[in-house]
Amino acid sequence: MAVGRKASRNEGKSRWSEKSSQLCKRLFLRPRQPRTVPSRRQAASPGVSYLDRLPVELFDMILDKLSVLEISVFSMVSKDICRYIMDYISTLAWKKKAISSHFHHPSCPEWVSTIQHYRDLGLLFKRCTLLLPTKERLRFIFNKFTHVPCFTLEQCLTPQCSGFSSYGIFLQTLIAGWDELECHRVFNFLCDNINLLQRTEAVITANFQELQLRFFCRRVLLDPWSQKPEGDFWLLQLLQPWPMVSQAHLLFILYGPLMPEGVLAWQDLVERELPHQALWDLAQAILMLFSQFKAKHLTVDSIPAIFEELIVIPQPWHVLNVARLLVLCGNDFCFTFLASKALNGRLPEISRLIVFIILVCEKDGYHMNWAVKLVKAVCDVFAKVNDKYNFIQQLESKFSEVTREFFEMSVSGEAGLRSILHPKQVEI
Ligand SMILES: [Zn+2]
Repeated sequence: MAVGRKASRNEGKSRWSEKSSQLCKRLFLRPRQPRTVPSRRQAASPGVSYLDRLPVELFDMILDKLSVLEISVFSMVSKDICRYIMDYISTLAWKKKAISSHFHHPSCPEWVSTIQHYRDLGLLFKRCTLLLPTKERLRFIFNKFTHVPCFTLEQCLTPQCSGFSSYGIFLQTLIAGWDELECHRVFNFLCDNINLLQRTEAVITANFQELQLRFFCRRVLLDPWSQKPEGDFWLLQLLQPWPMVSQAHLLFILYGPLMPEGVLAWQDLVERELPHQALWDLAQAILMLFSQFKAKHLTVDSIPAIFEELIVIPQPWHVLNVARLLVLCGNDFCFTFLASKALNGRLPEISRLIVFIILVCEKDGYHMNWAVKLVKAVCDVFAKVNDKYNFIQQLESKFSEVTREFFEMSVSGEAGLRSILHPKQVEI
């Protein structure tokens, strides 16, 4: 009996699976027809869309329930919905809700969630303004942020403010994938909007509010692109309007070493040796410019010239800082810099620099073979044997001179030697 019941159950099961397999075949294996479901607009009376018949308040209530990211996706459904969403995000109520003006976070999770929120806002504005011309698009977008003091130069001096970083992530998300011409328009728009060039000029000439300019440019324009080729574009835009001396000055303001007390280490570079971490950002910026010029087949002479201006701001730097910056700039730049000086007959200067480059290699743990190859390459710059011999002789006498200086300092117990052995720490 039990066996019979089981058999009939199995029979039923097999009939069901047969039916279900037929159904599956009908549903999934037959060729798919294109969707022909009429839209709400088509279903409604001609000339009146579904949205036109939906009360605005109800549409707003729907949007109120969606996240910023969901609204951004929704805005791509149709032109009508996109227009509705642009009106919706222009309301004071939405701006108050979505564009936060609280950037002084006590904890890291809050900081991370604000950054993510501004990334989502970047996507929303990117998607819902897609059909507008660039200038109109930028005007619409940046008008929404004019009331935020933490996005504005010289408005917020709180050290832990995440305003500029949020603004930078927003801008990066907004313009990701835009071509160079459009990025130029963005840069010009920002310059007009916040008087960036006039403010930069004021900072360079008066050494006033340097850190505000540094944080704005780094966090809004440069750092969000630090791992991407677009970073070169923004640095070039910032430097290009200025003569070489001002470019060096601006490079220092943007990437120069920052002391733990929150000031730029202008005088420290002159008076004492700084560790390699302090010069790392500056070296990366120089390297970025150098590679960018090479990639575009432009003459690279201007970069060593900017370097020469840089290492005398505010006065000639401690020679170990110059040597360390050259080492950090890498083989190609270091050789170009020394070779151009060699060809100009500045042998005592490059010989002394090479001695300190060798010292930096020893102190920072670089392979000495690198320094030997560098010296050989510089030696090959000279066409005549006599010039090569002269260079080697200069180098030899500089080694003796520097060794004697160190010996005398160690005998007299001078502070200079102590600073060479124990470089001052700076904020990274
Ligand atoms: Zn702030």
